Amino acid sequence: MLENRIIRIIEGIVGEQHVSTADTDRLCYSYDATQRQHRPDAVVWPSNAKEISLLLKMANAEGIPVYPRGAGSGFTGGSLPIHGGLALVLTRLDAILRIDEENLIAEVEPGVVTRQLQKAVEALGLFYPPDPASLKFSTLGGNVAECAGGPRCVKYGVTKDYVLGLEVVTPQGDIIRTGGETMKGVVGYDLTKLLVGSEGTLGVITKIILKLLPLPAAKKTMLVLFDSIDGAAQAVAAIIGGKIIPTTLEFMDGTTIDCVRRNTDLELPQAARAVLIIEVDGDSALIEKQAETILKLVNPLGVVNTWVAANSEESEAIWQVRRSVSPSMRKVNPDKFNEDICVPRSRLPEMIRTIEAISDKLQIPIVNFGHAGDGNIHVNIMVDTAEPGQEQKAKQAIEEIFAATLKLGGTMSGEHGVGVTKAPYIPMELDPAAVAYMKAIKKALDPNNILNPGKIFLQD
Ligand SMILES: Cc1cc2nc3c(=O)[nH]c(=O)nc-3n(C[C@H](O)[C@H](O)[C@H](O)COP(=O)(O)OP(=O)(O)OC[C@H]3O[C@@H](n4cnc5c(N)ncnc54)[C@H](O)[C@@H]3O)c2cc1C
Repeated sequence: MLENRIIRIIEGIVGEQHVSTADTDRLCYSYDATQRQHRPDAVVWPSNAKEISLLLKMANAEGIPVYPRGAGSGFTGGSLPIHGGLALVLTRLDAILRIDEENLIAEVEPGVVTRQLQKAVEALGLFYPPDPASLKFSTLGGNVAECAGGPRCVKYGVTKDYVLGLEVVTPQGDIIRTGGETMKGVVGYDLTKLLVGSEGTLGVITKIILKLLPLPAAKKTMLVLFDSIDGAAQAVAAIIGGKIIPTTLEFMDGTTIDCVRRNTDLELPQAARAVLIIEVDGDSALIEKQAETILKLVNPLGVVNTWVAANSEESEAIWQVRRSVSPSMRKVNPDKFNEDICVPRSRLPEMIRTIEAISDKLQIPIVNFGHAGDGNIHVNIMVDTAEPGQEQKAKQAIEEIFAATLKLGGTMSGEHGVGVTKAPYIPMELDPAAVAYMKAIKKALDPNNILNPGKIFLQD
């Protein structure tokens, strides 16, 4: 627990009403979207970079760990206060500071919810593409810290492709700016790129300059059902090989379809063993032509049924199939180990077959869906940890899946980061010299190991 003396100092920085040691607050900020819980000693809600700078200076002087937190929707435990200390909640920094229509940029504070920015720019005919499925509640600060992805990334890229500059409070409390407002800039090391995806371990992001695009005029959504996962995978290759990059290329495997079928009223034919949701956007005439070409390319590949949305309501209904996956999965088994491996697109069928073999061998359901266009699969290992041996089996499955992913030239995480949950597996992917290089960066920038300790590496 923190001494009263420390609490008084924090109150002096942020104001009495913006720090709490109440059990309820400590409990509320003890979890994220993983199933782990770690209570902070206190929760602090600063309102600007200056306050965060003073908090970090104090934390360094007193040796108190500080854990930055956005909405707490992370899937790898990145915001969990695993050594107690302060949960530094950034949701009060929630202003869209400006949208510059001439230069196509936006400047925001980190606590802005992603969808909120998208709506604001769309009202002006502009577009902020990164779209994590958590966009209605996750924050842009959290998206930047995790380099979040989403369905649209196959065409538009991930968060890092839109971050031009940052204001950051360093672990020792200095306030710095990286990058800027220009589309180009090569003065010094690219600190912006280093900070994006650094999972709150190298600095607290307090302002973000984002690149915007013009809003595409129209979009067209299609749901295509295949009789095999191979057919769906070949369809992905055929579309991209046909020189079309759709906005989204989402897939669901047979287990996912069974799951959705059992738990919703959505009608999906029994013969369907894989689904692709394909969306194209752009000029109306162009997307009609692209949709036609896509259907011609995929039709010979075991298509069972096709639904082309005629309007935005039907497009929404198609996306409802995808959105029903998470709630229906919970009914398979109560506990979910969620991984987000990524393999080269062409290796997708091999990867899915390997996962199915692991699922059969260990006799545990594994539900696979995700961003086929990126080779990024959300692998959901469904167990009941209350049953003896189930957790152990899930861990064995994870290790075998990671080993197979790496063998196929993939990576253990396409978008959720390392945090706590993937830290034990880092040596499977990174060689010791690369880990030492990363640790040297952390040590140089945060010599007292104050900011988000215990994340990414098992020992900082
Ligand atoms: C239902 C659901 C769907 C999801 N879908 C996707 C998806 O499609 N794609 C995807 O990529 N992710 C997805 N996620 C994961 C998660 O939403 C993202 O990682 C998101 O970017 C986290 O944002 P957050 O505001 O919740 O951050 P938090 O979970 O609060 O924090 C995440 C990390 O960022 C750090 N952090 C937060 N704010 C700051 C800041 N201002 N400065 C420095 N560090 C900071 C934290 O310390 C932590 O390490 C999903 C999660 C859920 C629950």
